[in-house]
Amino acid sequence: MDCVFCKIINGEIPNKKIYEDDIVLAFLDINPDSFGHTLIIPKKHYQDLADIDNDTLLHIMNVAKKLMLKMQDKLNCDGLTLIQNNGLIQEVKHFHLHLKPFYKNKKDKNLEEAYLLLK
Ligand code: AMP
Repeated sequence: MDCVFCKIINGEIPNKKIYEDDIVLAFLDINPDSFGHTLIIPKKHYQDLADIDNDTLLHIMNVAKKLMLKMQDKLNCDGLTLIQNNGLIQEVKHFHLHLKPFYKNKKDKNLEEAYLLLK
């Protein structure tokens, strides 16, 4: 299957991994909307919210909670937005949850710096 996120999971495309377990992988978005913008994806290919099973979905939310605490601690973010796109506005057709840290004061979106703090 020609899926960019499956290729990341299979190690065919590099990624800035910040969390991994048997079920999910979390890595920095290559084109971040904010400093530390992260994606959580299931290792198994599910297309979208309609497709994903509830246990995996709950696990992803638990990982999001853990990563939010880590972002508060390591990035000093002032808030966090969760986004999950479906249908026409979903660019990559492999389920993913966006974690976008929010900052009161504008922050550089430097990927390498965020990676060093979160990895
Ligand atoms: P969506 O519109 O919700 O499907 O968003 C897809 C996201 O995947 C975008 O924010 C992209 O920047 C991100 N993305 C696409 N390819 C990669 C990649 N190879 N590594 C990290 N993030 C990626």
